[in-house]
Amino acid sequence: MALSGVEIFKLLPKTNCKKCGHPTCLAFAMKLAQRQASLDLCPDVSEEAKKVLGEASAPPIRPVTLGTGDKAVKMGEETVLFRHDKKFVHPCAFAVEVKDSMSDSEINGVVEQVLNSEIDRVGQKLRVDAIFISNASGDAGKFEGVVKAIAAKAPAVPLILSTTNPAAAEAAVKAVADKKPLLYGANESNADAMAGIAKSHKISLGVAATSLDSLTALTEKIKGLGVEDMVMDSGARTAKEMLRDNTYIRRAAVKKGNKSVGYPVISFAQRDDVMLETLIASLGITKYSSIVVLSSVERWKNLALFTLRQNIYTDPQVPLQVEQKIYKIGEPSADAPLMITSNFSLTYFIVSGEIEGSKVPVRLAVMDTEGLSVLTGWAAGKFTASKIAQFIKDSGIENEISHRELIIPGYVSILSGAIEDKLAGWKVTVGPREANGIAVFLKSR
Ligand code: SF4
Repeated sequence: MALSGVEIFKLLPKTNCKKCGHPTCLAFAMKLAQRQASLDLCPDVSEEAKKVLGEASAPPIRPVTLGTGDKAVKMGEETVLFRHDKKFVHPCAFAVEVKDSMSDSEINGVVEQVLNSEIDRVGQKLRVDAIFISNASGDAGKFEGVVKAIAAKAPAVPLILSTTNPAAAEAAVKAVADKKPLLYGANESNADAMAGIAKSHKISLGVAATSLDSLTALTEKIKGLGVEDMVMDSGARTAKEMLRDNTYIRRAAVKKGNKSVGYPVISFAQRDDVMLETLIASLGITKYSSIVVLSSVERWKNLALFTLRQNIYTDPQVPLQVEQKIYKIGEPSADAPLMITSNFSLTYFIVSGEIEGSKVPVRLAVMDTEGLSVLTGWAAGKFTASKIAQFIKDSGIENEISHRELIIPGYVSILSGAIEDKLAGWKVTVGPREANGIAVFLKSR
């Protein structure tokens, strides 16, 4: 059970030494109770207190990792129901299903699509994260062969091996155990054998239940068999069931400290109707799935799902921002245009993308507005004429360029006169209001 701040305080040294970065032991205890601090920050805590507090301050959802290396998928460690309370920790992973009954060319086609799915959006690499290989043929040898072939073709992509047949599971897991796959398919009738395989190969186990009640019984049984790392499937398949079960699970784990459901959730969104599949997957992203299994890879679907996932898993209290500096786009000569914008990441990546697309080399002055967009920064007094003038003077750009013209975003055209007043000898030109007008604007000059 979670401990209250006062209960935690009683176990701390009570010296108020501030080494943990908090003014008092009580303040630190309150942060621990809210799971907003780590016990490691206090160097003087006793071993006994560590034991009690370590358990109490562990995240309510167990951390589980799928795969190895740079592309490993981290799951769990979530501490809240709502992202306005605190950032969601690990973005939900997308896995695309490959059936071992598919032809070699079909399988290769899907694997290629996964390998080519990566896109760069506002500086982050987004991709289909894993391949879910199902033993649809029911043939253990075929399953093992397909698992080996996919692992050879996509060695860095995390794998989920789906079978309820322990013999098929053992052979397939053995072939790729070093890649730390997730073995999915432990149920009431095969739990002992599947737990034995997961334990002996030190991999995580996907628990396939048919209801929330049978799920908790299964996770408790499997934990008793010595498997700590689990991923749960409550059996929910419709959108309504997913929303209901995932919400019950997250609430029970986070609010009630129920350890039987304190594991990441896997959800199945596969549908014949791809639009419907995208909608179901969106529900999984927003409502607590750690893995969403898809039936296919489509570029339009990826873009929609990647963007939603990125929005849900950013920290709402910390705007994404880029470093304040003058960025060179292309190879600008001394007389190349100088533009200015704010340091909100999305603004920067959209504006720089449009400039790149125009093929006109430009210097882009990106000013620190604490991550606010141009208009919001202006309204908040962070993108003002005096701050822009100061930034341009301090940047040293006057020594680099042969002209004195600054192009400002059209949305803040009102600033043009004031900037000219504060930047002696400079001419201010008003650029387009929207980034999609930049290419035409630059080419027409
Ligand atoms: S470091 Fe430990 S003893 Fe010092 S103030 Fe923080 S909690 Fe208290």
